[in-house]
Amino acid sequence: MVVELDMELQTMAAFLTRQIDGLITRPIRLMEVCGTHTVAIFKAAIRQLLPAQVELVSGPGCPVCVTPSRYLDTAIAYSREKGVIVTTFGDMMRVPGTDSTLSEQRAAGADIRMVYSPLECIEIAKSNPLKRVVFLAVGFETTAPLVAGTILTAQAAGVKNFFVLPAHKRVPPVLQALLSNAGVQVDGFLLPGNVCAITGEQPFEFLASQYQIPAVIAGFSPLEILQAIYRLAKQIHAGEARLENQYKQVVRPEGNLTAVRILNQVYGEADTDWRGLGCIARSGLVLRSTYHSFDIRTALPVTVPDRPVHSACRCGEVLQGKALPRECLLFGTACTPEQPIGACMVSVEGACAAWYQYGSWRWQG
Ligand code: SF4
Repeated sequence: MVVELDMELQTMAAFLTRQIDGLITRPIRLMEVCGTHTVAIFKAAIRQLLPAQVELVSGPGCPVCVTPSRYLDTAIAYSREKGVIVTTFGDMMRVPGTDSTLSEQRAAGADIRMVYSPLECIEIAKSNPLKRVVFLAVGFETTAPLVAGTILTAQAAGVKNFFVLPAHKRVPPVLQALLSNAGVQVDGFLLPGNVCAITGEQPFEFLASQYQIPAVIAGFSPLEILQAIYRLAKQIHAGEARLENQYKQVVRPEGNLTAVRILNQVYGEADTDWRGLGCIARSGLVLRSTYHSFDIRTALPVTVPDRPVHSACRCGEVLQGKALPRECLLFGTACTPEQPIGACMVSVEGACAAWYQYGSWRWQG
């Protein structure tokens, strides 16, 4: 469903799009890093408002989409273990592993429970003292402090049957990898306001200082997104490259110091695998040695083979802005939200799901 703006907002949106139009003298490519931005852009039909020379491409900012299928296979392996309860946010349920999903495992009898917060897992653990309760710790800097806080809470309460299967990822290193290793060409970044609310501005300053690419931290309303695009267009027009913060009411320059402190107390940086992107240096978060006992892989190791993903799925290219979802041969035919093949078609924030849901492959031909 496309969001209707009220008259005042429509007037402001029209003003901003005229301003953007006046600044564009060549084709430009902007990457919205965050899946929440991807959906907001579709819902407000922002592509249709912009000049044809402005191309918006999605980046690797949907946490479910960038989680490798091997992680799903591991989660499924734990769900088959006797005495294990797997807990997860709902968006992981239908993500395809190599030959099954958590949803299918639950239908087959596995004890898999959806939670809205990892803190719920502590109560589940207390109610099931003879079982191991494993939370699938997936997400970026926005989610990781909450999981870190849950681990500290479990430790303080003496809950010894709560565990995590860690797969947290950091956004700045993947952008660095896109620019330096993958050679992705973009003229500007729309940065995730939710991630920056935790990290602050500094971790993203390298985009301008090292790569001379303008970047704007953006909120999630249609006008905030348009304002951020306007600021990017203005910098590009002037031949400048700066990090700007359009979301100052939420993002402080230093970020959320309490959340960062908790995060750094529990987690350290490590190399990690991204779906379709391979292993990226220092892009993951692993439990520090003091908290290793909360890692289910320490308490109950399982062996999961590395198996190839569907050969025609182009999620890896979609996540790098190298291919549009409709350029995948499976898009809308073999791969749909009802029968997804790749993770980008599963999550509501996945680029393929958003393109399918809002039908833009039709009007963009
Ligand atoms: S349409 Fe499906 S198979 Fe193709 S890239 Fe997207 S998720 Fe992968």
